Amino acid sequence: MANATSSSANAQHGLTDRLTRWARGLSGKSEDEPEPGPPARNANNSMMREINRRRQLYSDIGDFLFAHDLDLTPLNFSVALDYMTGANIGVEKAIKAVLMERGKITNGWVESVVAEQRADEVTPESLATMLDKVEENLAQFGGLVHESRNSAKDYGAALQEQAKGLADGENAAPVLSRLVNLTRSMVEKTRQVENQMRESQKQTQALKSSLESARRAAEHDHLTGLPNRRAFESVLKEELLLAQAQGEQISVAFCDIDHFKIINDTHGHDTGDRVLKFVAGLLAKVSNDRCHVARHGGEEFVMLFRGKTAPEACELVDGVRADLASRNLVNRSNGERMEKISFSAGVANVHAYEDPRAALKAADRALYLAKEHGRNRVYLAADAD
Ligand code: GH3
Ligand code: MG
Ligand code: MG
Repeated sequence: MANATSSSANAQHGLTDRLTRWARGLSGKSEDEPEPGPPARNANNSMMREINRRRQLYSDIGDFLFAHDLDLTPLNFSVALDYMTGANIGVEKAIKAVLMERGKITNGWVESVVAEQRADEVTPESLATMLDKVEENLAQFGGLVHESRNSAKDYGAALQEQAKGLADGENAAPVLSRLVNLTRSMVEKTRQVENQMRESQKQTQALKSSLESARRAAEHDHLTGLPNRRAFESVLKEELLLAQAQGEQISVAFCDIDHFKIINDTHGHDTGDRVLKFVAGLLAKVSNDRCHVARHGGEEFVMLFRGKTAPEACELVDGVRADLASRNLVNRSNGERMEKISFSAGVANVHAYEDPRAALKAADRALYLAKEHGRNRVYLAADAD
């Protein structure tokens, strides 16, 4: 947890630095440039051009934030800046895609796209680096244990040697003094090894929490807090293995909010985001260690039910559907009552298909039929065999 806080604090710090540098640029002063003396006319012209270019950028960013009704947060500002300057290809691509699809960007969308970018940032390389470090730590730890065992053995052998001297009737005083020295050096050695081990343990602990927050970021949808599609795919594989091992049923469902585009168009994207969170919350309520819910993307959710036949899963999903459809939601931004909100779903028996992917496809086809036949309903896919 401490690590997640410090990494977001770092991100925030980096952002503040960038904004400061950029603002300095806007005021016509760069970090490395000295205060200009009496400039030549050409230099003056190019400086004016640069100032105008930056003024234009400033105004474009303002227009962009205003047009999309985005809050004036550092996050939105930095995403707009990345988009306008093309500084981050990932952000630019994601914005272009969402503009093509929806024509508008929301605060929630910005948050989720930035989270996705960050999740991608932490996945392959940094995870590999962290794993290398863990491996190195383990090797070091093993070395310490080995060293400490050897020291203990040496100490034991030396003790025996001296004890033999005593038994052989040697003068006790020098033998005792050698014993005291031996014991002292063993105590010192043990203290050193203990310190090294404590240090090593601290590092391993820090790495563990970095790994944990990286894993969470890579597997969770920022807007709804649900696991994302990537996480769902791996859970599905694991749960299928468990179901096969224990001879259990396993089913999947695909849910899609009905006419969500109209909800967005009528009430705005921020309200759309809140509806998404609300539906996610209702679906999450039925989840447990054998029932998993994830945001598949957009206004689509996937679920898996271990230990449930497809008709049983269908009944459960239908219960959530009926619950949602019976509610009278209020648009928090203006207090007005919203039209009824519903979702449609398709459910399939995973064992009836070659692989879980095919079962998901079948559930998606059943969902399509549920839409075709009027929405606000849950359909069962016919088994493939
Ligand atoms: P149907 O009943 O056939 O599913 O109709 P629909 O309008 O729900 O489906 P369509 O695919 O036409 O539109 C889905 C909409 O979902 C379009 C897109 O703008 C919106 N959407 C996707 N992701 C988000 C999001 O994160 N937030 C908001 N507010 N809207 C989103
Ligand atoms: Mg859809
Ligand atoms: Mg839909």
